[in-house]
Order: sequence, then structure tokens, then C-alpha cells
Amino acid sequence: MAYGGYRDNDRDRPKEFFDAVCSDCGKECKVPFKPTQGRPVYCRDCFRKHQPDDRGGRDRSRF
Ligand SMILES: [Zn+2]
Repeated sequence: MAYGGYRDNDRDRPKEFFDAVCSDCGKECKVPFKPTQGRPVYCRDCFRKHQPDDRGGRDRSRF
């Protein structure tokens, strides 16, 4: 394989991160947006859990 295998998708994005507490597991986490009061904030793991099943977004290999 000529390529590293994994496509590095992380670009250098100078984004601000805010301290937050996950509304699900209560873990401290950082979110790329300002946590709004009254709105649940999730850590990465819980965010995935709470996301709708989005299978169409990814280009799976189809035949
Ligand atoms: Zn969590």
C-alpha cells in the first residue's frame, strides 16, 4: 500500500474548547461549543450514543 492506510482527517483547526460535564455519564469533557444551560452536553462516547443512526453519511463500499 502506498498510503498509510488511514486517511488522516484531522486538520489543524484552531477551535476553542469549553469545559463541560457530560449530561449522560457525568464525566468532564471538552466541547467545541459553548455549553448552553438547559441543554444536555455529551462527551464523545455519549454523543455517539445519542446521535441518530446515520449510516447514509458514510460512503460504504457498495457493489
Ligand atoms: Zn458521557
